[in-house]
Amino acid sequence: MITLKRIVKEYDGKQAGNKAVDGLDLEINKGEFVALLGPSGCGKTTTLMMLAGLLKPTSGEIYFSDKLMNHVEPKDRNIGMVFQSYALYPHLTVRENIAFPLRERKIPKLEAYERAKETSKILQIDHLLDRKPAQLSGGQQQRVAMARALSKNPEILLLDEPMSNLDARLKLDVRDEIRKIQRKLGVTTIIVTHDQEEALAISDRVAILNGGRIQQYAPPNELFNHPTNLFVASFLGNPPMNLVTGTLEEKSGNQVVVTNGFEYTLPEERKLNKLHIGKPVQFGIRPHDIAICEASDKQAIRMKVDLVEHLGSGKLVKVIDPQNKLETMIRLLTDNENEVSSRDNLHIKFKDAKFHLFDMTDN
Ligand code: ATP
Repeated sequence: MITLKRIVKEYDGKQAGNKAVDGLDLEINKGEFVALLGPSGCGKTTTLMMLAGLLKPTSGEIYFSDKLMNHVEPKDRNIGMVFQSYALYPHLTVRENIAFPLRERKIPKLEAYERAKETSKILQIDHLLDRKPAQLSGGQQQRVAMARALSKNPEILLLDEPMSNLDARLKLDVRDEIRKIQRKLGVTTIIVTHDQEEALAISDRVAILNGGRIQQYAPPNELFNHPTNLFVASFLGNPPMNLVTGTLEEKSGNQVVVTNGFEYTLPEERKLNKLHIGKPVQFGIRPHDIAICEASDKQAIRMKVDLVEHLGSGKLVKVIDPQNKLETMIRLLTDNENEVSSRDNLHIKFKDAKFHLFDMTDN
């Protein structure tokens, strides 16, 4: 449905080489829900604006269903767009707002209003048709913006941080609703967000961007369980993955990650190519993949509790090695039953084969 080929965007006045989007390749299937996720300034909005036709790429090609779109005007792209600010027309009623894109296409008023009513039913705002935007709550305004974007049956729906003005609870409801409507209508949808939980929850695939480049493009599970580089590993996850610097060494036929605070023997099936031996590596382990264990456990690593945070559903425990040679704390998640408090000594172990390993010379 959508293909982006080697897209580059340099804004005027920026020095050559300073690219907002830097050689981006992306393919999106018909009916798919894709999120562009990344830190502030990574090029998400710029990419969305190019899809909308509101910005022109400096180079590269944009195709919708094999048709080159680079020079097609926004109004001829058959897209619906929802902005962060919703951008509703304050002097128009909800009905007139939703019907606006249809009226622009010269559809007669009565027919446009009838279609606006139909769309408003899908979004359950048909009782608000006579109100003005100022008489609506944030969540209702958001739905009107969605209805307006969907009223002309677009092939593609572009959402730019559409939930950032909603409170946490409403966000969850609206998120579910957007996904349901998207499935029902089968409209190919691209959402820009910096909220990783939102992106992972709502999307079929997520493109993680940094510095105008795609770091990884995959379904949420794949990104979380198999990050292909250090950026994705450290960006995804809350609390974030623990990362410890070490070296991969060979000891009595085993491959061992040697750090200043512990040694970890890789299981046979996760051994790396011998080329990595002697190289600096980052050993990564997520907080929920660390367990508190007995001192007698073969894999036990002695630690000291630095801080315990109560999260409601469990505890986040921050531990340091007794001599603080690691120079970094390790975060682990445990349930409320575990009696741990600051300055306790305890032993931890890494759950089987849950670690991630990154060769620093690859990055
Ligand atoms: P955010 O999450 O903060 O909205 P983003 O990932 O959407 O960020 P973009 O808005 O696409 O990022 O910006 C990408 C880069 O391009 C940034 O370095 C930004 O400063 C720059 N940029 C964006 N708009 C312009 C502009 N109109 N003129 C010059 N530079 C711009």
